[in-house]
Amino acid sequence: MSRERLALHIDFTRCDGRGLCTELLPELLVRDDWGYPLGRGGRDVPVPSGLAGAAQDAVALCPVQALRLRSAGRD
Ligand code: SF4
Repeated sequence: MSRERLALHIDFTRCDGRGLCTELLPELLVRDDWGYPLGRGGRDVPVPSGLAGAAQDAVALCPVQALRLRSAGRD
């Protein structure tokens, strides 16, 4: 049975760069010199299945709704 892969999309037109998501997902995101999140994959950061819950928390807690989980296809 195939499993859906997820990617965390960062909308930089909304992000205010305070870095909450980088604290919630240090395995996926680091802060750049201005506090904005950087991840492998640019704006769409692949989310391993073991971090799906933490990624959902980051989406829910982003104060400006700049994060979304998207489907990145199936395994
Ligand atoms: S939590 Fe939201 S606003 Fe804050 S750095 Fe992350 S994406 Fe940007």
